[in-house]
Amino acid sequence: MSKRDYYEILEVSRNATPEEIKKAYRQQALKYHPDKNPDNKAAEEKFKEAAEAYEVLSDAEKRKRYDQFGHAGMGNNASGFGGGFSGSMSMDDIFRHFGDIFGGGGFDDSFGSMFGGGGRGRRAVNRGSNLRVKVRLTLDEIAHGVEKKIKVNKYIQCTTCKGTGAKGGSAYQTCSTCHGSGTVTRVTSTFLGQMQTSSPCPQCGGEGQIITDKCQSCAGNGIVKGEEVISIRIPAGVAEGMQLSVNGKGNAAARSGVPGDLFVQIEEIAHPDLIRDGDNLHYEHYITITEAALGTSAEIPTIDGKAKIKIEPGTQSGKVLRLKGKGLANVNQWEGKGDLLITIHVWIPRNLSKEEKATLEKLGNSPNFKPNPSARDKNIFSRMKDIFE
Ligand SMILES: [Zn+2]
Ligand SMILES: [Zn+2]
Repeated sequence: MSKRDYYEILEVSRNATPEEIKKAYRQQALKYHPDKNPDNKAAEEKFKEAAEAYEVLSDAEKRKRYDQFGHAGMGNNASGFGGGFSGSMSMDDIFRHFGDIFGGGGFDDSFGSMFGGGGRGRRAVNRGSNLRVKVRLTLDEIAHGVEKKIKVNKYIQCTTCKGTGAKGGSAYQTCSTCHGSGTVTRVTSTFLGQMQTSSPCPQCGGEGQIITDKCQSCAGNGIVKGEEVISIRIPAGVAEGMQLSVNGKGNAAARSGVPGDLFVQIEEIAHPDLIRDGDNLHYEHYITITEAALGTSAEIPTIDGKAKIKIEPGTQSGKVLRLKGKGLANVNQWEGKGDLLITIHVWIPRNLSKEEKATLEKLGNSPNFKPNPSARDKNIFSRMKDIFE
């Protein structure tokens, strides 16, 4: 089944403001909330779909990437981008993922408590910070897409305490104030009836647990400095300055929270022969005066090895030959591939011997050597079939 457009799911326009997106998601989430639609698989799917759309569109970086790459760039494959957010995430994942949003993050209390009211609790979730790395790619890697392994220095989970921050992984107890829920709840009467409002538990800071003896390796934080080798699948057609994100591969969060995201910025290494211009590639090819007059063939470097081209007799300097589809794939796969444009330059010799000069002078007097711009090529772009031998 093909994925639906995120804007379509939330029923907002492509230039909707963050507020409009939040409002639209809130409407969808309330409409399809499992508490309102018990045992309704279709509603659950809609609820998940809306959560996924919101997860992307509410994040400026992810939204930009989605606008740029479409679903292709969101990479719901096992190895690559945004590994954490495939369509198969569970309801618990959604509540955990949006813990900060449903909590103090922006929805009003009635919405928060509605989620909390589902018996799932909504403990405050520590969030790891995002990380940024650069990756340098050759034109060849860009043309074909590549799987890159990057070593990232970052906070990782403390193995001594398994990220809990507690000595031996077990020296903690359930908070007696909130009984582990992380929130304290207050019931108020409003014109809509009784409303529950929740706030983070002041005793445990919303974590639901209190550490009785800190892990010595991480001083109770549950995270330590370390490194991780991260595999990133880079789609074909990316360009300098583009940024990809890998969900959950940023810094680990204190005490088993939600890790941050990793942002990967693309840098392009210049190709020795080919110049990139969007999806098109350019190559400058020099021929002699006699080759221009008599015609010749040449081997041209392309991104996929050499291509033989035919240069017609009477080719003028500046003529551009187009090898269709020999450019780069567009990062939005549905837009197809660019072309390789070959500009022909006729090399005029600078140092001539006496004999060469005499020969050229003789030829120069021939009427056929007189410039005749009115007979120049009407269409400077030749078609591929004309130039392939
Ligand atoms: Zn530890
Ligand atoms: Zn508490």
